[in-house]
Amino acid sequence: MDNAFNCTQCGECCHNLNIPLSIGEAIDWLSAGHKLKILTEAIPWINDVAVTQEVLIRKKSMTFNGISGNLSIRVLMTLVGYFDGRCPNLDTNKNCTIYESRPLTCRIYPFEMNPMIPLNPANKLCPSEAWPESETLNKAKTIHPIIVMDTVTEKNIKKIYANSVADVASKKELCLHFGISTCSLSNNGYLFHFVDQQKLLSALEKLALNQTINISTDAPKTDWFIVTESENALSDLISVGGKALHARNLSLTEQEFMHLSR
Ligand code: SF4
Ligand code: SF4
Repeated sequence: MDNAFNCTQCGECCHNLNIPLSIGEAIDWLSAGHKLKILTEAIPWINDVAVTQEVLIRKKSMTFNGISGNLSIRVLMTLVGYFDGRCPNLDTNKNCTIYESRPLTCRIYPFEMNPMIPLNPANKLCPSEAWPESETLNKAKTIHPIIVMDTVTEKNIKKIYANSVADVASKKELCLHFGISTCSLSNNGYLFHFVDQQKLLSALEKLALNQTINISTDAPKTDWFIVTESENALSDLISVGGKALHARNLSLTEQEFMHLSR
């Protein structure tokens, strides 16, 4: 049985996207005049515990340490290229005009960046013809065939992870530079920050050259506010000494809270 994924080049995955980008990719994206926002997520964390599980090692290596009140957290910061409708790089024939230099995230779709998350065709935009056992999938999208991943995709997934690890220190500096001190609770919604795009490009270029960037006077000294829409999560966070804020009380001028379902 052929279980290879077979892209039909329908272009569906090139619409209405939030694309995670490395610092290098973000510089290219902004230089081309496209829009970029910053996603921050908090993972509550117990310090001084030896991290041995692969999933925790992975989380720790892609995040930086932070404090929210009395709560230790790891902060996952992601640079997100975004657009409504058609990607600015998609031409009218559904071809990517930057195909040779397109972001790694584009190269691996529909496979998952996190190898620990199984690929679920029901969550993907690809038409049924792209999947093995397509008839079965049409009738019952809950069936997950084992889909063979090609070696190029496998290498690209590893590169995304390596870039995430390499970019962590610079991402912490970026948060300090822009005075970003709020984050969503991981797996509980997304908090995006909108900053001046020229300043962001300039800061990214400096960081890529290992130059320092100044710290905003609004920068959090140590404390992060964790934003959630869940009343239960809010009271849980506060009960363990965290600084938490309901999403409805967020200042929405330069931030946007997005539900997990969007
Ligand atoms: S950069 Fe290219 S591959 Fe990526 S979403 Fe845009 S058109 Fe699609
Ligand atoms: S949605 Fe799937 S099948 Fe269509 S172009 Fe993207 S990867 Fe290929």
